[in-house]
Amino acid sequence: MKRIILALLLSITVCRLNGQTVIPSVNDCTVKKGTFTIGKEVTVYADNHEAAYLSFLKNEVLNNTHRIVTSNNKNTAFKFNYSSNIRDEAYKLTINKSGVTIYASTEKGFFYAIQTIRQLIHISGDKCTLPFVEITDSPRVKFRSFMLDSGRQYQSVETIKKYIDMVILLKMNNFHWHLTEGLGWRVEIDKYPLLTQKGAFVATGKEQQGFYSKNDIKEIIKYAQERYINVMPEIDIPGHAEAALTAYPGLGCFNQKVEVPETGFTHNIMCAGKDSTLIFLKNVIDELCELFPSEYIHLGGDEAPKGNWDKCPHCKARIKNLGLKNSGELQVWLSATVAQYLKDKGRKAVFWEDIIYHDGYPIPDNVVIQWWNYRGHGDDGLKKTMEKGLGVICGTNYYNYLNFPVTAWSGYDINRTFDIKDIYLNNPSYRAAEPLVLGMNCALWTDYNVTEAMIDRRIFPRIFAIAEQMWYNGQPLPFDEFYNKVISKKDWFESKGYKYGPALKTDVPTNYSWE
Ligand code: ZN
Repeated sequence: MKRIILALLLSITVCRLNGQTVIPSVNDCTVKKGTFTIGKEVTVYADNHEAAYLSFLKNEVLNNTHRIVTSNNKNTAFKFNYSSNIRDEAYKLTINKSGVTIYASTEKGFFYAIQTIRQLIHISGDKCTLPFVEITDSPRVKFRSFMLDSGRQYQSVETIKKYIDMVILLKMNNFHWHLTEGLGWRVEIDKYPLLTQKGAFVATGKEQQGFYSKNDIKEIIKYAQERYINVMPEIDIPGHAEAALTAYPGLGCFNQKVEVPETGFTHNIMCAGKDSTLIFLKNVIDELCELFPSEYIHLGGDEAPKGNWDKCPHCKARIKNLGLKNSGELQVWLSATVAQYLKDKGRKAVFWEDIIYHDGYPIPDNVVIQWWNYRGHGDDGLKKTMEKGLGVICGTNYYNYLNFPVTAWSGYDINRTFDIKDIYLNNPSYRAAEPLVLGMNCALWTDYNVTEAMIDRRIFPRIFAIAEQMWYNGQPLPFDEFYNKVISKKDWFESKGYKYGPALKTDVPTNYSWE
């Protein structure tokens, strides 16, 4: 045992001494003396010469300055070897004097090896060098996700792509796209054109108007697929839906004009009593499933006050006819009904934890719960999901909501702030390890008008601590060492277009502007 620990310590030390830093940390790494130089023409052996990872290597890693020549013999600079012994997403990477050799069982595995190479490569003009290394690497959790809120704020297609690039740089595999909010409905639905014609323009703040056409969305999905990333759409129902209710007031309990909240949410939610609401939801789900190939479709379910449902004749009749106890159980029924609809289509339904605090109706087994409200309910959301035997994604507000700034700002008081050390040492989502845990999610909500220019400094570099927890299997590095690694990568990530904000509370200068 002592020898194993010594060997582990040595391998970490070797990586450290040679100044090689990859974020998230690779799991097993030995850096050796020497470098491999890549010529202007790069010879490549691969089973599939059309694979997306090869064009990524050429365009994104070698900056399109090198010619890639594919070959069927293995005497090449890059060798991508299929090996069925390696699990999905894992890879083995060896760089020595005969070149770069990668073993993986899937294209995803090869692609993650390329992400590691991307951080190891040194490019100076036409000259590219790589250090001699031996790496064996695989993710800690299966589902590794970043959520962007395009409901409250609209981001351009280019900005969406920028954060999809970030997702892959950090070896995550899911882009959770929050597409509807009180402040805007952003996804074009042919059957209900007013959702975007009206619903995408209900807010008046900066960068709060706009929507994604079906062509925009196809372009984004293709971009993500070329990076082996799934795009999981989210339509938030029945609450956070004032934009949709403005476009179609009949979706609400009382067919009334509703107020669009500048922040937070109101009591105006979709009616669960009217059959017409269900027909609407099923039609929207049909178009979503046609557009998004994602196995997971997120249907929200959070923060839906039931005041209207308690008074609405349609909702009251539904509660009575189904033998439910109250409006809380009515939301379980609504969630279960749309989830079953997705199940019939072979998809999984994801909901925020709010739907599991009531019983009254059986939840189908294709439901996955996103545990988020640690500040409000501690780990109740996780426990209740486990009791029901459902899958869970851990993305607790402490410490995965990266919109919470490092120091107080706008609507975020001191209680809604945290730094990279809080994440690294105390993230409740990292500790959860039951078999039903699918993985982790981190999020950037855009409450209080977080415009495009503000996003980077909310995310960077704190997201590295979360990426490390998603990917790295070993005993965590001491915090100071991890922090130094994060700071040492500043120039590299900034050269890729991502601007660092402060990482620690003690790093924030007096009068620092988060805007
Ligand atoms: Zn109603």
